[in-house]
Amino acid sequence: MTLAPGATLGILGGGQLGRMLAHAAHRLGLRVHVFAETPAEPALAVTATATCARFDDTAALDAFARACDVVTLEFENVPTAALERIAAATPVRPGAGVLAVTQDRLAEKRLARQLGLATAPFAPVTPAGVVEGEVTWPARLKTRRLGYDGKGQRRVAAAAELAGAAAALGRVPAILEGEVAFARELSVLVARTPGGDVETFPLAENRHADGILAETVAPAAAPAASARAAGEIAIALAEALALEGLLAVELFETPDGRLLVNELAPRPHNSGHWTLDACLPDQFEQAVRAVCGWPLAPPRALARARMVNLLGDDVAGWAGWLARPGARLHLYGKAEARAGRKMGHVTLVEAGS
Ligand code: AMP
Repeated sequence: MTLAPGATLGILGGGQLGRMLAHAAHRLGLRVHVFAETPAEPALAVTATATCARFDDTAALDAFARACDVVTLEFENVPTAALERIAAATPVRPGAGVLAVTQDRLAEKRLARQLGLATAPFAPVTPAGVVEGEVTWPARLKTRRLGYDGKGQRRVAAAAELAGAAAALGRVPAILEGEVAFARELSVLVARTPGGDVETFPLAENRHADGILAETVAPAAAPAASARAAGEIAIALAEALALEGLLAVELFETPDGRLLVNELAPRPHNSGHWTLDACLPDQFEQAVRAVCGWPLAPPRALARARMVNLLGDDVAGWAGWLARPGARLHLYGKAEARAGRKMGHVTLVEAGS
């Protein structure tokens, strides 16, 4: 099916990523229908058509599917049953197969290894805290599912601490990863169409604080060979997953320049927000193009940019950012500035020559 402007793009999830996806879709003449679980979510404020229901509300899922020409998602933890139900009526991109891998840290790491890509040493951990393999210490114990922004993980200095960490995480299936003494964290975005065309974005360098992304600088300063290698890793993963849409690949770069795959996200990503102000196309437009089966554009950075996340009370400094030359402020319209909550971001665009 060829989609044309005027068609309806469904978005599962109502967060800031959905809001920015909706902006991009509207600019390309699409209609947008957001499916969100609660009424105060940021994407609902920018779309005329929305469904506010739970992901297990089958009547709401069926009506949403009928109302949309294609459906995408803005967070990867949409229940697989909901995706499959929608997919029976309308194409869902990325599909349930991609989600089955990217909802599970163990499946992600196994896929990377199958493709010959490097990762931190890892082993599965049973809910009872039994490690089924060898890792190095210190290590990180992470829940296989539903972890984000540093939640669902514990640092474990030695084997003796493991049982306590497993209990603290709620005795759920987990993965134990040897800690990597990385030089820096990088990420790369890849888009792939149903027809198999792929495009990667310039490499981004990320700084995290307390497990949450604090800042991104992009394009990252990196030798051409490293940037190329990161792109090749992203393309290998996108092709193995038969991705239809956008995929973010988070990497650790070791001091000797090796790239280790850490985490995958099958959607626009916080580390790609700089593209809104300093790259053509931006990540949201590219996601829309990929999901609609439209031609991808080869991303071209227009300038180097630094993206700063506004977390919790940081948002109180909004007027200062407005006053700063070369800064563009993005606010997500969230009412309550809870600690660590992503309230907005700022892109600082380097002056051109
Ligand atoms: P994640 O949720 O896997 O992205 O982890 C959140 C953050 O914790 C990462 O961005 C890293 O800063 C850190 N981290 C996670 N896994 C490891 C690891 N195996 N070795 C060292 N640092 C890690």
